[in-house]
Amino acid sequence: MSIEKNVKQLLSELPDGIQLVAAAKTMDFKSVNDAIGAGVQIIGENYIQESEELYKLIGNRVKWHFIGHLQRNKVKKAIAIFDMIQTVDSVDIAKEISKQSAIQGKIMPVLIEINSGREEQKAGVFPENAESVIKEISNLGNIKIMGLMTMGLLTEDSELSRPYFITTKKIFEDIKTLNLPGVDMKYLSMGMTDSYKIAIDEGANIVRIGSKIFGKRKA
Ligand SMILES: *Cc1c(COP(=O)(O)O)cnc(C)c1O
Repeated sequence: MSIEKNVKQLLSELPDGIQLVAAAKTMDFKSVNDAIGAGVQIIGENYIQESEELYKLIGNRVKWHFIGHLQRNKVKKAIAIFDMIQTVDSVDIAKEISKQSAIQGKIMPVLIEINSGREEQKAGVFPENAESVIKEISNLGNIKIMGLMTMGLLTEDSELSRPYFITTKKIFEDIKTLNLPGVDMKYLSMGMTDSYKIAIDEGANIVRIGSKIFGKRKA
């Protein structure tokens, strides 16, 4: 199937109120441009250099979400491009984002990445630390917490991700109930090609989809 058809089919399937982020890592301009032509409105990128190259060609026709692991020395560049950073996983990186956003005259919308499976090798805030990390980050001047993001398990059996999504949704609701100043629990970003339907079942309103749109990645 072509990229256009894949996007159109996905968009027609997704329930109302679910935002599609096209995860474009390693994809060339033509592929990404085809996806946009078919109705994609948000591009997700993992790599700063790659997004700079795409951004030069695509610009603000779409929204840009950063979904990779953000290194401190790349924050300044990320802020120049992205409309949202979905992967904030420490107070330290949040401080750098707030500082660089102030310099660039922005308030950066972010999601807090939750390590819902408490896996040592994975990025993200452990569930039990979410509240304190969010409270601390919410005090920073040039950052706005808009919700949570989580990765499921990397496995063919997407059912195994369901408990992770349930855990993250629970944190989302708990934080919402706290009505913290400066925190707007609006977005819950969960689910990829193999797991997005389960993620939506469990409350996701942003899904990040790559291979179902672009085909299998080489790398
Ligand atoms: C690559 C990627 C996706 C999309 O993965 P697919 O399985 O290709 O849909 C989603 N989220 C993140 C953070 C990614 O890096």
